[in-house]
Amino acid sequence: MRKKGIFLIIFSLAATCGLFILAKTNPAIIIQKPVLSISQISSLLGMIFFCYAFFLSGRFSFLENIFGSLDKVYKLHQITGRLSFILIISHFIFLIFNYLGNSVMLKLLLLPGQNLSYNLGILGLWSMCLVLSSILYSSLEYQWFMRIQRSFIIPFTFGVWHMLVIPSDISRYMPLAIFLLLHVAVAYVSWIYRVILYPFFGPRFEYKVESFQVFPNDVIVLSLTTEGKKMPFLPGQFAYVKFESLGIKKEFHPFSIASSPLDDKLRLAIRAFGDFTTQVKTIKIGEKATLMGPYGKFSERFFDRKDSVCIAGGIGITPFLGMINYFKDSKLKEVKNVHLFYSVRNETDNVFRQELEEISVNVQQNLSLNIIHTEKDGRLDAGFIQNALGELKEKLYFLCGPKIMMEDIASQLKKLRIPARNIIYEDFSFQ
Ligand SMILES: Cc1cc2nc3c(=O)[nH]c(=O)nc-3n(C[C@H](O)[C@H](O)[C@H](O)COP(=O)(O)OP(=O)(O)OC[C@H]3O[C@@H](n4cnc5c(N)ncnc54)[C@H](O)[C@@H]3O)c2cc1C
Repeated sequence: MRKKGIFLIIFSLAATCGLFILAKTNPAIIIQKPVLSISQISSLLGMIFFCYAFFLSGRFSFLENIFGSLDKVYKLHQITGRLSFILIISHFIFLIFNYLGNSVMLKLLLLPGQNLSYNLGILGLWSMCLVLSSILYSSLEYQWFMRIQRSFIIPFTFGVWHMLVIPSDISRYMPLAIFLLLHVAVAYVSWIYRVILYPFFGPRFEYKVESFQVFPNDVIVLSLTTEGKKMPFLPGQFAYVKFESLGIKKEFHPFSIASSPLDDKLRLAIRAFGDFTTQVKTIKIGEKATLMGPYGKFSERFFDRKDSVCIAGGIGITPFLGMINYFKDSKLKEVKNVHLFYSVRNETDNVFRQELEEISVNVQQNLSLNIIHTEKDGRLDAGFIQNALGELKEKLYFLCGPKIMMEDIASQLKKLRIPARNIIYEDFSFQ
């Protein structure tokens, strides 16, 4: 996670707390009425987190520069979403506590009635619970999960409306109102961009399938070309891809680009294991592929002069195919060494063997290639890497493969005193 992004969130939270105190004509009231004050500050901070949750799901390219790669952005989106829910629920619970014994206020808080501002609060809270529980407690298909996630805009709108009409610090103190409304505006712009504008005005590139090959281990390698504008990308980045093909669902799925930006054609390598990826096997030559992207910061530090150790498991080889092909054709090979450790079950799974061997012959001195067939050689671990390389410090470690493999190797590397900042992951399982 980038520090810039964390500071931005901390700034919003701290400024909200500061403005909350300034909004009080007598700040001592915060101490005198602690339960009410906790309830009020919870609602303000809950709304700030809610706004950030929308902002972080906006899929703006600049988000990766502020918060780090898209998987980190989405993780932070989930955290801010959860925190906003906890704080908004706390707002409600502390209000009830504050008015225990006051039946008129309790009725206003709990039951819809004549008072619009309270009704909006009740609607906001319950619609938020409804959307959240339908995400948490039903096993939704990914596309439905996304659609329902987008409907969080409904509780958000009730919440904003409630915040604007209820007599409170916000209605009394203009700077606090302006500060909150700025966040609200960013949240709405993000939602409108992601849901309405992104499909038309997002970074979109049209390609065609020039050739493809299906390997016995269910890996489909596609070569794409375009007559239009080529997608500019860095080695190891990924794009959201949709195919215009009768047998394939019209959905965007993320895939790493398995070719170098210096290559003429753009290559994808897809392992068929779920609904969509299995359908890709029915693709035909000449059919259209729409790419949205590029995204990802995986290879950002690959351009450092430090030697790089690339650790791939199974289909996790794809970003490295782009990075290593780029390494072969660029001046980067003159300033650093790259060591690739590629773990696959057996020879059949190793569909890129010939290509990797050719590259390592080509870049003999600066690229070492280590292929591990787990059925024969056992699991790849940090000990294996240490035996092959000797000194492990002062190197960068790039990991892409099954989550369990990445976690195991990363924790072994940390035990060998490799700093966490030098271990970089590409997580294929983020949503
Ligand atoms: C950054 C990144 C790069 C990737 N690169 C590659 C690659 O080079 N080669 C490769 O074979 N796989 C890659 N994947 C994984 C690939 O995207 C998933 O395997 C694929 O989307 C699963 O879809 P499915 O319907 O076949 O499988 P399912 O079994 O239906 O889905 C499996 C899981 O994939 C996720 N998923 C489903 N639909 C989507 C969607 N539209 N968008 C995002 N996630 C979804 C959900 O978490 C779901 O639980 C990558 C993933 C990421 C995040």
